[in-house]
Amino acid sequence: MEDQLKQLRQSALEELSQVSDIGRLAELKVKYLGKKGSLTAALRGMGTLSPEERPRIGQIVNDIRNELEQLLLRKNDQMKQEEMEKRLSSEQIDITLPGRKIYRGRKHPLTLTLERVKETFMRMGFMVADGPEVETDYYNFEALNLPKDHPARDMQDSFYITEDLLLRTHTSPVQVRTMQAAGSNKPVRVIAPGKVYRRDYDATHSPMFHQVEGLVIDKGISLADLKGTLELFIHEIFGNRVRVRFRPSFFPFTEPSAEVDISCVMCAGKGCRVCSGTGWLEILGSGMVHPRVLEMSHYDPSIVSGFAFGMGIERIAMLVYGIDDLRLFYDSDLRFLRQF
Ligand SMILES: [Zn+2]
Repeated sequence: MEDQLKQLRQSALEELSQVSDIGRLAELKVKYLGKKGSLTAALRGMGTLSPEERPRIGQIVNDIRNELEQLLLRKNDQMKQEEMEKRLSSEQIDITLPGRKIYRGRKHPLTLTLERVKETFMRMGFMVADGPEVETDYYNFEALNLPKDHPARDMQDSFYITEDLLLRTHTSPVQVRTMQAAGSNKPVRVIAPGKVYRRDYDATHSPMFHQVEGLVIDKGISLADLKGTLELFIHEIFGNRVRVRFRPSFFPFTEPSAEVDISCVMCAGKGCRVCSGTGWLEILGSGMVHPRVLEMSHYDPSIVSGFAFGMGIERIAMLVYGIDDLRLFYDSDLRFLRQF
């Protein structure tokens, strides 16, 4: 019996020393110390022993049990430790590796330009007005003194949805809508930024582009107010050194009308390719609101007067940033867009 137990201990120790994973360790625990384990079986076999031998053998069995339990526990701890170390080293983060670059989004150059234009006018007390992009013939043309057979309609070949509905060709309909909403002879001081549509497509024209319309109406508004407001705006956007020129022109909804030019920002007025050698760049249209336009919106031209202006945001952005092809704004090329 004693020899048997010694052998059992020996083989247990050997197996334990060779074990290399936690699952196998649990198996060994069952094999030797479990209910049907070898040591338990040995303990049962003690019934055949003489009463004198029992305590001594019992002591040996207990010693072996204790020894194996201790050993199993130590081995278990050791393996858990090793496993943890292995995991830590395999999951290690190399902090010397350069990270992936996160690109911050940025505003589109047209948005930037529009924001600057809006800010400048808002500082002068202008409100921002909005209007629909799908417009009726009445608001887009007729109420702006452009009756059906007016030749100036040809300059704005547009996208018609029905005979009477079209994509607005300018932001000017917002003038009419603002006056009608304000009520007769109430003062108005708004800008109306937004998308407009025309059948054009080349380096300086796009079928969709952005305009900002301005309208000021009150008692005693004169051409001097128009000049002062636009000069202040232009100097704010292009700097104080540009010169401003008002050139007589024609628009059906203003009288008198003026194109506004600035001295060429590329050549400072000496003459270059951008300004076609003239030294001047046309940047917006303006004029005193035509009495008929006031009347059609139930304003009385003998009591109030006003001025209006309109400009293309693309045109302003091209001059501010020195961009020579308008189509770049709509190509969504990140190499271009990341420069702003
Ligand atoms: Zn020039």
